[in-house]
Amino acid sequence: MNLILLGAPGAGKGTQATKIAERYGLVHISTGDIFRANIKNGTEIGLLAKSYTDKGELVPDEVTVAIVKDRLTWPDCEKGYLLDGFPRNLYQAEALDTFAKIDGVVNINIDHKLLMDRLCGRRVCRDCGESYHVSTLNGATKCARCGGELYQRKDDNPETVGARLAVYNEQTAPLIDYYTQKGIIHNFTGTEAPAEVLFEEVKRVLDGLLNTL
Ligand code: AMP
Repeated sequence: MNLILLGAPGAGKGTQATKIAERYGLVHISTGDIFRANIKNGTEIGLLAKSYTDKGELVPDEVTVAIVKDRLTWPDCEKGYLLDGFPRNLYQAEALDTFAKIDGVVNINIDHKLLMDRLCGRRVCRDCGESYHVSTLNGATKCARCGGELYQRKDDNPETVGARLAVYNEQTAPLIDYYTQKGIIHNFTGTEAPAEVLFEEVKRVLDGLLNTL
């Protein structure tokens, strides 16, 4: 089963992605994680990506599409994959159609008023990627799940978050129509309820989808 996870930054994609990948044995491919790893390791792609991610802008399509196209040729993708953070615009979606067959799109809709606070208060585990909100941490600096160090993403600040949300509205939101027309989208509402509540719904829909493949 090959899936796309769609939703505004802060909608809770990361947490759902981990759960979906685990339950269905899918490879979790996050373009944001790929760029962050490249930036950390100081690669050529990282140096290029940094100037865009720092501003909340999209890394150029040719670079991003080439990375994903290559990643999907790795043998582990044969068991199915979950794309998280890709595609981000129509160009990338149309490019993806030329080299991948997508079975379903999980779209998480969320009230945008919640997003600024969620993102600016977000702390992420360096090791397992679990995210937390600073208001629930009581000063803890380690991940409750794996003990890894928690950090604040450089792009989780008010200015960059504003730019990321604008990019989402202008470029990524049109993908909802694109996949609705293809008849493969499944819409969910992200709330402040625990991630497990949303995952129960996602699971019901994806179990059903899996049975039709
Ligand atoms: P994310 O972790 O998905 O929020 O991505 C963090 C940043 O990485 C984004 O703000 C972009 O600068 C860059 N990025 C991630 N995915 C893509 C993509 N599909 N196309 C272009 N840039 C991306």
